[in-house]
Amino acid sequence: MQLGSRGSAVERSLTGGVPLRLESVSKTFHSRGGEVEAVRELSLEVPRGEFVTVVGPSGCGKSTLMNLIVGLVEPTSGAIHYDGRVVNGINTEIGYVTQDDNLFPWRTVLRNVEFGMEVRHFPAKERRERALQFMERVGLRGFEKHYPHELSGGMRQRANIIRTLCYNPKVILMDEPFGPLDAQTRLQLQAQLLDLWHEQEDTTIVFITHDLVEAIALADRVIVMTKRPGQIKKVYQVDLARPRDVYTLQFQEGFQKIYRDLWRVLETEVRGG
Ligand code: ADP
Ligand code: MG
Repeated sequence: MQLGSRGSAVERSLTGGVPLRLESVSKTFHSRGGEVEAVRELSLEVPRGEFVTVVGPSGCGKSTLMNLIVGLVEPTSGAIHYDGRVVNGINTEIGYVTQDDNLFPWRTVLRNVEFGMEVRHFPAKERRERALQFMERVGLRGFEKHYPHELSGGMRQRANIIRTLCYNPKVILMDEPFGPLDAQTRLQLQAQLLDLWHEQEDTTIVFITHDLVEAIALADRVIVMTKRPGQIKKVYQVDLARPRDVYTLQFQEGFQKIYRDLWRVLETEVRGG
């Protein structure tokens, strides 16, 4: 397989610009049950081409952070900059992969994968070709005419992910996309996602996970959030060489130290609920 020539995160940040910048973003929800401060004064820059993972205790505002970035939720204060401009309203340039696969049950797998390109007016021929290429890459060939309910959870999530990757958004948010999958399927999907990301030179990914091993395996940088209201507790640079073999990475020199360092930071946030 041909891998792209990704430079280090530092090289990329110098040459590629910063597609995503959060400037002291806060969000308080007002609902009948009362006020909930979900995210507090969160600032973050994500350089082009970077793979950032976000970990934090359940309910600390991770999904809210994604919803803020994509414009589904409006910040109470602060600003979100995308490609140098302030985002107001939904940003359709950003790809968003959620934990539920959201495949349309009435469409075949192929037509589900084509959907993202369809709404972005890709010509029919290119749409079909790209969809088939991506399906091949993640082992879905032969299932073009199947319907989502005829696939395993892992296959549905593969379809869900390539549906976003194949229209080539420059920034992709993923909110615990492998959450409900078994450990081995997760590894397969991690490997495939890294392969696809390596090939799409400039693609920036912000990926939420509750699995610290996964967070380290995928990331250039791991962001650890505090418990609610979610703030950034630590930003950790993962200096493991790429391409990485997710199947054996845990045994690679250096991995355990990173894990211990990060767990120490996360542990205090998780303890005591
Ligand atoms: P996480 O993804 O880290 O588990 P969330 O971002 O989903 O956490 O939620 C953070 C907090 O914000 C929770 O207390 C949740 O109840 C609250 N929250 C999230 N979305 C809404 C909403 N649309 N309206 C009211 N409260 C919300
Ligand atoms: Mg969440």
